[in-house]
Amino acid sequence: HQPEPGVQAQMTPVPDLGEKTYRGSGRLAGRKALITGGDSGIGGAVAIAFAREGADVVIVHLPAEQEDADHILGLIKDAGTTGHAIAADISDPARCRAIIDETVRVLGGLDILVNNAGKQVAVDRLEDLSDEQFEQTFRTNVFANFWLTKAALPHLPAGASIVNTASLEAYKPAPDRLDYAATKAAINNFSKGLSQQLAPRGIRVNVVAPGPVWTALQVSGGVSDEQMKAFDDESTYQRSGQPAELAPAYVFLASAESSYVSGETLNVNGGMVTP
Ligand code: NAD
Repeated sequence: HQPEPGVQAQMTPVPDLGEKTYRGSGRLAGRKALITGGDSGIGGAVAIAFAREGADVVIVHLPAEQEDADHILGLIKDAGTTGHAIAADISDPARCRAIIDETVRVLGGLDILVNNAGKQVAVDRLEDLSDEQFEQTFRTNVFANFWLTKAALPHLPAGASIVNTASLEAYKPAPDRLDYAATKAAINNFSKGLSQQLAPRGIRVNVVAPGPVWTALQVSGGVSDEQMKAFDDESTYQRSGQPAELAPAYVFLASAESSYVSGETLNVNGGMVTP
């Protein structure tokens, strides 16, 4: 997780992915799941939780993050389900289509799609945010969601679940992450509209909107320790969340327990009030 050129963060967080604590109870037994960004942070915690709930899991990660992916893959296999990792950059539509093909081939189908991979660029002034940076954030956070969902749809049966990842910043944009806030608001509305379109096919679409979670995203995006401390101070609980505290929301929305929930955004942010 290298910082973007021109941005600097001071520390590398060691987030809690629930490796030692998450206990499954078969809530996703026999399900086949694809999780983008499943190698680290929130996606890593979701991959561990899904496998311990009985799902076969494919994780997608950036090629540079092979070590993280291998670690999560080991934990999936320890859970006794099928695990598979695909190193791919999802900001390319052809790669997105290939990811779905490979997933369906390896798992023999697909019924849970978690669009979790994301990026942000912390830049103080709009004038310093390059066209390429702005576009790359949109390609990763929004377009990839569209490309992967489109490619997955022919394979998704009735009862399938799509869970997308927005952010508190969809409602509460930080002044130095204009790219990010715009993409996350887009994800909320894209998901709500899609949930209506897919309802007749029995496919549900929901969103998890995390509050501040101190992960590698903050390092690579250039969010400083001071900014993260400010988030903590502002938070109702006076602290950031942990990926392990996000994963159960994804399990709920992916499982049949949420069979009557679609088009919803589940805010998991330590009690911060959202509009
Ligand atoms: P993270 O950096 O640990 O995970 C991001 C993942 O995205 C990585 O696994 C990386 O491999 C993957 N990724 C990024 N660009 C990619 C690309 N082009 N192709 C393939 N994979 C790519 O960070 P995280 O905090 O766990 O973030 C996960 C999701 O949660 C993101 O969508 C993020 O926007 C969202 N989120 C995070 C926070 C937070 O405070 N950490 C808050 C709200 C929302």
